[in-house]
Amino acid sequence: MTVTPASFPFDNTFARSLDGFFVPWLPERVPAPAMVKLNHALATELGLDAGALDSPEGAAIFAGNQVPEGATPLAQAYAGHQFGGFSPQLGDGRALLLGELIDVFGQRRDLALKGSGRTPFSRGGDGKAALGPVLREYLMGEAMHALGIPTTRVLAAVTTGEQANREGLPPGAVLARVAASHIRVGTFQYFAARGDTDKLRQLADYTIARHDPAAAQADNPYLALLVGTSQRQAALIAQWMAVGFIHGVMNTDNMTLSGETIDYGPCAFMNQYDPSTVFSSIDHHGRYAYGNQPPIAQWNLARLAEALLPLVDADRDKAVAAVTKVLHSFPVLYEQRWLALMRQKLGLEAAQEDDLTLVNDFLALLQAQGVDFSQAFRGLGEDVDSRAHARNLFIDLAAFDAWTSRWHRRLAKEVATPGSRAGAMQQVNPVYIPRNHKVEEALAAAVERRDFAPFEQLLTVLSQPFSTRVEWAEYAQPATPAQALGYQTFCGT
Ligand code: AMP
Ligand code: MG
Repeated sequence: MTVTPASFPFDNTFARSLDGFFVPWLPERVPAPAMVKLNHALATELGLDAGALDSPEGAAIFAGNQVPEGATPLAQAYAGHQFGGFSPQLGDGRALLLGELIDVFGQRRDLALKGSGRTPFSRGGDGKAALGPVLREYLMGEAMHALGIPTTRVLAAVTTGEQANREGLPPGAVLARVAASHIRVGTFQYFAARGDTDKLRQLADYTIARHDPAAAQADNPYLALLVGTSQRQAALIAQWMAVGFIHGVMNTDNMTLSGETIDYGPCAFMNQYDPSTVFSSIDHHGRYAYGNQPPIAQWNLARLAEALLPLVDADRDKAVAAVTKVLHSFPVLYEQRWLALMRQKLGLEAAQEDDLTLVNDFLALLQAQGVDFSQAFRGLGEDVDSRAHARNLFIDLAAFDAWTSRWHRRLAKEVATPGSRAGAMQQVNPVYIPRNHKVEEALAAAVERRDFAPFEQLLTVLSQPFSTRVEWAEYAQPATPAQALGYQTFCGT
């Protein structure tokens, strides 16, 4: 079967309605596109013919050599605070939005290439991507999706036939990314920094129509957009925290208005519970450490709020007062979301006064004894009564027993039967997360030996994170201390 360009029924509202927000641009041609992995489930969800796309023709499209009919490839403009410092112009330096598709649920999704060559926003960069980071983004996106966390996802990963100009000259690659949109806090900052209030309003109206349609009816739609974005981010960060996910580079250009996780560069999952955990090689001061993610989200929302000020009220003092109120409500909003998830993780359905203390005391216990975050919660649900699974993870058993006695007393106040509780806990406490050493192993095999079997296997495991399989035992284990020693992640370059 051949792929006809008609297999992409694009409907490109961004290109159509936001003139001046992007530069039309074509992908760079590459010598030898080859499909590494097509995401069949996602293709089907997008209403595309997966079988037809999993082909040399599909590889040519996703490598950028063939622009499908109806696509309007463009590089989006955006600014951003990176590690706290403002860059008025970042933009898609190696990415191009091809267009938008309406998926089978009726949702509008962006289809974009990443690694498709230089653009007017490339600054010093080469516009390219390497196979390792491309596969990493694929794995992480699918893992997050399977965990029920809003995320961009990779539709296809292709190699280009080039060597990437990176250490070790790894294979060059391009990924096709699907996102609810690519509108970032930094997109608003771009126009705010230029004092272009008309463009800012146009962007806000577009964003409201796409992500917050109810805000259009509010007394103050732009304030309502800030509220909606805060709610989505509070929910998202709470979900990250509940699975131990560390994004690693929460710059304002990497925070979406849609509430999806975006840009899997130096991200990683925490092993032993410690809020100060950082994996990124460039995060010297721990700005984006695990425990800092909620306050950083609030900081980023404050940058969005600043950008929105002229739209919120012509009177600046009034505008500041209004957005400040929204920003101050973020910690409460976040904690409600987070506590609701932590209750679920402990098998608690009803909300009670001391739940926060019970949760925090368990986390303190994990930290004091260096216990693996995911294993501990999973262990609690495996055998709620005997407690053996979780107990084995602790050294100070008396402290563990004291906490579980409190937990059991608390569980006694619940109506759920132990059987249904165990099942419910297993639905929220993953047994398989992308363990850093397994991810590295899979990427190394692919990059160094073109052996994609470990990648495929890991992808299969991560797609079913909640049901234990004996044959997958190794994927549930944290790294040995030797494997974990000095583990670092690098920005997705
Ligand atoms: P990121 O760290 O991936 O979120 O990217 C931050 C900014 O750097 C964005 O403007 C990217 O487009 C740009 N960028 C990252 N890598 C490259 C590259 N290899 N070539 C050109 N631009 C890049
Ligand atoms: Mg980015």
